[in-house]
Amino acid sequence: MRQVIIIGSGPAGYTAAIYAARANLEPLVVASSVEAGGELMNTTDVENFPGFPEGIQGPDLMTKMQEQAERFGAEVLYDDVVSLDLDGPVKKVTLGSGAVHEAASLVFATGSAPRKIGIEGEQRLSGRGVSYCATCDGFFFREKAIAVVGGGDSAMEEATFLTKFASKVYVIHRRDELRASKIMQDRAMANEKIEFVWNAAVVDVLGEDAVTGVVLEDTVDGSRRELALEGVFVAIGNDPRVHLVHDKLDLTGEGTVWVDGRTSRTSVPGVFAAGDVIDPTYRQAVTAAGSGTVAALDVEHYLAALGEAGAPAVDADQIEGLPEADAA
Ligand code: NAP
Repeated sequence: MRQVIIIGSGPAGYTAAIYAARANLEPLVVASSVEAGGELMNTTDVENFPGFPEGIQGPDLMTKMQEQAERFGAEVLYDDVVSLDLDGPVKKVTLGSGAVHEAASLVFATGSAPRKIGIEGEQRLSGRGVSYCATCDGFFFREKAIAVVGGGDSAMEEATFLTKFASKVYVIHRRDELRASKIMQDRAMANEKIEFVWNAAVVDVLGEDAVTGVVLEDTVDGSRRELALEGVFVAIGNDPRVHLVHDKLDLTGEGTVWVDGRTSRTSVPGVFAAGDVIDPTYRQAVTAAGSGTVAALDVEHYLAALGEAGAPAVDADQIEGLPEADAA
């Protein structure tokens, strides 16, 4: 049995792994088979992660975090968790390969997934003109007119990035005021290829086999019109990935995993959570990393308490590598 398994390989998961590995907890990181590295793998320039004054590419930052965790002994598995058994002191993690891993503690850091608008054409034309990742798919829209839906930092970032390829980028926002930070707004507004469509909701995506346009509804007067385009990038925020635990851990009203105050302790002893999956508000790479630190330190304290009077009934002798001083 492991001391700790970390589920997720974004900034929260890898930072938890760095701290846990440096504390000789020999963490196993389940990094996902296709989405290893988390949301930053779909990002270009990261300009606000401290320590990189010139900025750093999202994937490069994640590679560095992984290397740092592995340097101290973290083991990374590219597989997906299919089910979790969190009952009792021994946590069981079943992977897509069928392998079952056991640990005395768990860090749940599965991040968040792109939010969908929730209209029929969106689903049908996903991958055929509807995309959730500008850096992944922008290249396919050379000299085409496309739209980005949303008014936050992600929408501004995606729109600005997409002007490298597209001939025209509409930013469709449901209000007349952006949520994005000033610097991101200014950059998008100064870009000649970007045109803002205010007070507009996308109510249908048109096209048989590929996107040919969208139907827009004016959010003020309710009138409808069509806008011809060949691509729609949806950037309307993210939802926490909680499908593995929605009936196992308490959730908040906002759908994130509930944690106890400023700690990473969930409603189940020995299970800790970190990063976007607990954060409905800040959701930055650096806050996720800080949250991963908290989780690793909470895990350390939890493991150190095993074997003490009143501690959860797990046999400390069964945990590989648990230092005797900590178990006592
Ligand atoms: P966000 O800040 O939650 O913004 C989501 C945007 O989508 C809002 O403008 C919202 O409209 C709109 N929206 C939400 N649901 C919608 C729906 N069903 N239909 C149409 N529009 C909808 O999400 P985000 O832009 O992904 O950013 C998330 C976090 O990551 C933020 O903290 C952001 O600062 C951070 N981030 C930072 C950077 C950077 O600094 N480089 C880059 C990307 C993201 P309303 O405004 O009307 O609510």
